[in-house]
Parts: sequence; structure tokens; C-alpha cells
Amino acid sequence: KNLKKYFPVMRGFFKKVVGYVRAVDDISFDIKEGETLALVGESGCGKTTTAKCILRAIDPTEGQIILRVDGKEVDLAKLSKKELKPYRRYMQMVFQNPYTSLNPRMKVRDIIAEPLVVNKVASGKEIEDRVAELMKAVGLHPDYMVRYPHAFSGGQRQRIVIARALALNPKLVICDEPVAALDVSIRSQILNLLAELQEKFGLTYLFISHDLGVVYHIADRIAVMYLGKIVEFARTEELFENPKHPYTESLLNSVPKPDPSFRAENLRPIEGEVPNPMNPPSGCYFHPRCPFAQKVCQEESPKFENLGTAEEPHFVACHFAEKLALKGMSVKTL
Ligand code: SF4
Repeated sequence: KNLKKYFPVMRGFFKKVVGYVRAVDDISFDIKEGETLALVGESGCGKTTTAKCILRAIDPTEGQIILRVDGKEVDLAKLSKKELKPYRRYMQMVFQNPYTSLNPRMKVRDIIAEPLVVNKVASGKEIEDRVAELMKAVGLHPDYMVRYPHAFSGGQRQRIVIARALALNPKLVICDEPVAALDVSIRSQILNLLAELQEKFGLTYLFISHDLGVVYHIADRIAVMYLGKIVEFARTEELFENPKHPYTESLLNSVPKPDPSFRAENLRPIEGEVPNPMNPPSGCYFHPRCPFAQKVCQEESPKFENLGTAEEPHFVACHFAEKLALKGMSVKTL
């Protein structure tokens, strides 16, 4: 709720603070138990910083991070590092690059067992059995636990990363671009595995991606981020078929479609560069790149409002969202 993360920019010998990078700029969203919520946007829009704040890998500047677990609510943002410890096990992260997130000097058994050992929740034979169980759950033969990461392909390494993330029976798994570093042929296998594991273990996912094509197949709801703010938030099908923010429409128009009649020249990339988050534009942050920008867009920041219904909420931050007839993407073409 109202989450902010501003990084100070320091210059000179005395490290004088000359400004702030507003990496996450007052965003609010919820993740329902058992769902997959996708955070989507270009590089540098604040997706990973949001995830790191939720995990308290970095401290937010302001705002609340409310975790509902075992019938109670805790605001993780208020807890000290020591008070956080019992809650850390409920939240785990799957990183983007399985080539760098596994220690090459550790055997797979020790990599997967590490959270169990650190949290002292198992020992001896119990650890071996749990590692074997986790390896089977992610589709790896338990005999491979004595091998080192270099003996595995990229897809298999990502399976090891996922097994490690599941070791402590987490409730929320944050997947930060989990298939971006993998071959296209392997991506769907990992996405299917994540979907299977979600069903089997009742997991909740926060899925971070810049790729709407990937997100379509896994997300229940999508929040689109631009320059530290959420600009649109809706159910996946609704967002694809009926986008209301020009930035979302531009993202949809940058996705190649698997249709024989589709031509590369039909792709409409987003004009211009992402502005400097230290010095964001006035009014609507998207106005320097928006084909529909008017004077008011430069002067006033648009409200983030529900233009859907109570049953089918569709939040958007654009002065002209109701007037613009934006073209979505039929989900049947994906
Ligand atoms: Fe474009 Fe204006 Fe809407 Fe911003 S508020 S997205 S500049 S039309």
C-alpha cells in the first residue's frame, strides 16, 4: 500500500545528496492467495525494486507491505530484521539467470538443502529425503543431486533454482523474469512447471516480466508499470482485449503474433526512451511518448481510477482513458 522506494543520488567528495531516483513511486496492489499476479513494464520501470521491497531485501522509503498468513496480518515494512526472520520463509524468489544464481562450487544437494540448513528445519537423512522429493517435484532425477550445476542445461538449472525456492514450503514465490535467460524452446516447459507446482502446492506467484506474450499464459491479473508507477491493472483477458492506457496498448503492439498473415512491419514499437527517473516529466509521466497527449497531460498527474465494475475492476491512470478507443489483442491470436 502506497509503496515508495527512492534511492538518493550522491555526488562529490562529501557525498552530497543531489536528488532521488524514484524507482517505486507510490504504488498499491494486492495479490490474492493462489493467484498469479504479473508486474509488467520496460527495464528500469521499478518491477524488481518492488519485489525486493516486498521481500525486504531492500527497505522501502514509505508504505506498507502487508502479509496475511495463518489468520493474521503483519506489516513487513515495520519489522526489524530480527522480527522479520520467521516471515522470510513464507516468501521466496526465483531469479532470472540460472547461470549466475547457482554456486558452481556447491553440489545440487547442498544448493537445494541450503534454506533447510540455514533455517534449521531439517537435518541428516531428513534433508536428503526432502531434497529428493523437491527434485522429483521439479522433474529432475534425485540421483543427480551429487552433481555440480555445470553438468546441467539452462532449463535444468532453473528447475534447481525453483526446487531451492520451494524447500521451505513458501506461500508467495516471486518469479523475476524466470524464463528470460532461457532458450525459447525451454520457456514453455518452465512455465508449465510453474503452473503445475502452483496447483500442487497452492502457491501464490508475483511474476515479473517485460514480455506480455509470456505473461498472458501464466497471469490471472496484470499490473502494468511505467517509471515507478502502476498505470493499468486488470484481469489478464480484460487487459489484452480492452486496454485503456496508451502505454499498455503500445506494449501489446510490440508483441509479434503467431499468425501467418502477420508482418513485422505491423509491429508498432513505443517511440522515444524511458525518461530519467531522477527527473520525471511533469503531469502524466508518459506524456513525452504518448501519441494522444494533450496540454492537461503535461500539467496534471492522472488519477488511478476504476473504470470497470466492482466485479470486474479495471484500474487505469489516464486523463482520456474513457474517450480513447484503443485496440487490444484478441486473446485467441496468442
Ligand atoms: Fe497519454 Fe495523457 Fe493518457 Fe498520459 S494522461 S497516457 S499523456 S493521454
